[in-house]
Amino acid sequence: MIISQQKLLPDILQSLDGSDVVVIIGCGTCATQCHAGGEEEVQDMKRELEGVGKAVPLSFVLESVCTTQKTKKELTKKSTFIEEADAILVMSCGVGVQTVAELTEKPVFPALDTLFIGSLRRVGHYEELCALCGQCILEYTGGICAINQCSKGLLNGPCGGSKQGKCEIIDDRDCGWYLIYERLKQRGKLYLMEMIHQPQDFSKGQHPQKITLGREMLKKK
Ligand code: SF4
Ligand code: SF4
Repeated sequence: MIISQQKLLPDILQSLDGSDVVVIIGCGTCATQCHAGGEEEVQDMKRELEGVGKAVPLSFVLESVCTTQKTKKELTKKSTFIEEADAILVMSCGVGVQTVAELTEKPVFPALDTLFIGSLRRVGHYEELCALCGQCILEYTGGICAINQCSKGLLNGPCGGSKQGKCEIIDDRDCGWYLIYERLKQRGKLYLMEMIHQPQDFSKGQHPQKITLGREMLKKK
């Protein structure tokens, strides 16, 4: 999931300066899971904006704001309110904000900061797990990402600086390769540590990317 957190209210109010009528759109997927842009947070934001004298004639949560066609349909249905608004405040990750911005000529503002792709460990605790390298090698590393978990992004084993399982660069961080070693040992796959990986083709991880999956590929999914 995409991890995001709400911006500070004064920053949001600053961006909305001069906008008296605001429509708020939340996201029912990642932003809801992060308690940053779900039903509750949208209602809180509505109260905050009304508290400083703004009118919020419409506030709603879309299932996933980043799904362009569905979002377009919903915005069309609600076009009367949107026409009358001075601004739209989107409580989703940056992808959702850009999706809305593309679909309307109204000024669109982000209420959240998008942080990383990661996992929800427990309420309020998120961990970055993938650096979007475009060439996944998790099958060789026991399902632990060497690029993300190792501070140097090493592909072929540890740098040698780890002490008691901790990284030499960041003291309180587990050494990614120590974790990989322990996982492979536990699963009887230590032989994978001996594999030599060629340098990554970083062009695959360049951004922005666009991809079109053919019908055959989509059927397999
Ligand atoms: S190897 Fe690449 S794609 Fe796989 S989890 Fe790590 S960063 Fe993500
Ligand atoms: S100590 Fe471990 S995590 Fe840190 S840079 Fe070296 S191999 Fe990577």
